Amino acid sequence: MYSDLINFIQDWYQTKEVIPLHEPRFTEVDRRHVLDAIDSTFVSSVGEYVDRFEKELASYLGAGHAVATVNGTAALQVALRLAGVEKGDEVITQPLTFVATANAIAHNNASPVFVDVNRENLGLCPDALEKFLDQTARKKARGTINKTSGRKIAAIVPMHTFGHPCRMKQIMELADHWKIAVVEDAAESLGSRISTQHCATFGALGVLSFNGNKTITCGGGGAIITNNKSLAQRAKHLTTTAKVAHKWEFSHDEIGYNFRMPNLNAALACAQLGQLDSILKDKRKLARAYETFFKESGWAKFVAEPQGCTGNYWLNAVITSDQNQRDDLLTKTNASGIATRPAWKLMPDLPMYGECQTDDLKNARWLAKRIVNLPSSARSNG
Ligand SMILES: *Cc1c(COP(=O)(O)O)cnc(C)c1O
Repeated sequence: MYSDLINFIQDWYQTKEVIPLHEPRFTEVDRRHVLDAIDSTFVSSVGEYVDRFEKELASYLGAGHAVATVNGTAALQVALRLAGVEKGDEVITQPLTFVATANAIAHNNASPVFVDVNRENLGLCPDALEKFLDQTARKKARGTINKTSGRKIAAIVPMHTFGHPCRMKQIMELADHWKIAVVEDAAESLGSRISTQHCATFGALGVLSFNGNKTITCGGGGAIITNNKSLAQRAKHLTTTAKVAHKWEFSHDEIGYNFRMPNLNAALACAQLGQLDSILKDKRKLARAYETFFKESGWAKFVAEPQGCTGNYWLNAVITSDQNQRDDLLTKTNASGIATRPAWKLMPDLPMYGECQTDDLKNARWLAKRIVNLPSSARSNG
């Protein structure tokens, strides 16, 4: 059964050489943009590509504002701070995520609290969240407090795993009820939508990544998305060293960050954004083909976009029957030069997050033993 999958993937990518998990797709347009930025000499913190990228990204998402940053982790760190996360606070997120989600919380001197995911979309489960808040949270004058720790629960960070949208309607209703800010970690879900609304636009703030392995890339990059103008202005100010605008004077009015996206990267980001729809279309073809393959062969369950949603299929994933099958699949495919990989180690299993409060994490533990990601780069065949 593994050899059928290996043949399928080698046929799709028309090669028997090494097939990476996800590689970027570049064209002549990308090359032209990068060279133009170099020729202009504006490669660093000033230049028109940054402004252009922010406008075009906001418009693509139907969002009020986008602020480009040096990477997605930095974007998340600042977004959390803007959502009101302070030293000693807690932030609820999911255990099944890339380490950046938890790190961005820790960089704000806050502690992550891990609540379970659901098996359908692999994202933060609103039912588990509701139960956790009912059992643990109390509304007080200074905010919503975790009664086991006495700390403020300052934010909730759902992450749209592999590009599959979380159940944002339910998560937003709970967050509104408990008066907790939502920051979406949409690093993996550029182009994913719930009905017609883009991921990253549901919470008070959303965050994207343009790292080399993401759907589109500018080498390294990220963005903070918000509909709130003053939050956007604060994001811009904080990520650009909190410099007070002036023709020649260097004055800064708070401790800011040097998190701005360089113009050289923004040039590539503009070019890539122009190709996003065609990349999404080609990734979708592959996802459909995987879906059919696993429907017919039946030995693993393909993770399809949730009902009513359009996924970007950033990384295709299957749920194998158990850990042995997962390990067999990983071994056989990697031995044939096909890069497949398991899900991340769960956050509370990492040494630095081992002491954090967690929900029972039943689904996350079940999934972590079974998930395998399959090669997912966009190709223009098929
Ligand atoms: C990629 C990613 C980020 C941000 O990553 P950067 O490499 O810093 O751009 C954040 N969260 C998740 C879930 C990611 O997959």
